Amino acid sequence: MLEVSGLSVRYGAVEALRDVSIKVGTGSLVAILGANGAGKSTLLRAISGIARVTAGTIVLDGKTISGLGAQDIVRRGVAHVPEGRGIFPDLTVKENLMMGAYARRGSKISADYSRILAMFPPVARRERQFGYTLSGGEQQMLAIGRALMAAPRVLLADELSLGLAPIIVKQVFAKLEEVRKAGITVLVVEQNARLAMKFADYLYVLKYGRVVMEGQRSEFEHSAALVDAYLGV
Ligand code: ATP
Repeated sequence: MLEVSGLSVRYGAVEALRDVSIKVGTGSLVAILGANGAGKSTLLRAISGIARVTAGTIVLDGKTISGLGAQDIVRRGVAHVPEGRGIFPDLTVKENLMMGAYARRGSKISADYSRILAMFPPVARRERQFGYTLSGGEQQMLAIGRALMAAPRVLLADELSLGLAPIIVKQVFAKLEEVRKAGITVLVVEQNARLAMKFADYLYVLKYGRVVMEGQRSEFEHSAALVDAYLGV
């Protein structure tokens, strides 16, 4: 279980998150919705130790991870697929994937590498190509694969659908389902509420850095108009 309690994050005068509390049950897929600037990316960045927490705590399986460095948090089992994918354009697909295992030691890395390649056939076919030669959808799959190379218990994914054609978005989210079925907890940030409602068990809506709505998927389906209002659709 990942539990965020009373989290606040400031960037100078900007209060990006204010007293945010969320719970992500082990093995569940939870989505954070919100308009541009609502604080969604900041929440993921705080969990993975990239953004500094001003107040509040982040606890993973009973142990506090807020305040640790990003590398320690990866070692504790949290991997982040950043907004914009963050593919290294001048590294090969294989090198990009291996970067995901930078904080690991041990013999399981190569077995994980083969397993993850098998999970993403379009990426596997381009194993020796440079990152920049991949399409947007392939880069998104590669970014997910790279995060999985950290052998995470929790996968954080930021705006996977951004800039991708609907058919590709479907394929990418189908991969997330596979990840969750493999027992990995998934927390996604999405601007596309309809999409998130198809996949998530539980959803939160952020507005101006606060949680303004939360509930099971079924509750969200009945309040689509309210969600639209919060997202400014
Ligand atoms: P988007 O989808 O546009 O990324 P978001 O919901 O992910 O939106 P954040 O990126 O978390 O929102 O930003 C929340 C607020 O914090 C915004 O007002 C943004 O301008 C501000 N912000 C984000 N990063 C920084 C930073 N490094 N320095 C200053 N302000 C920042």
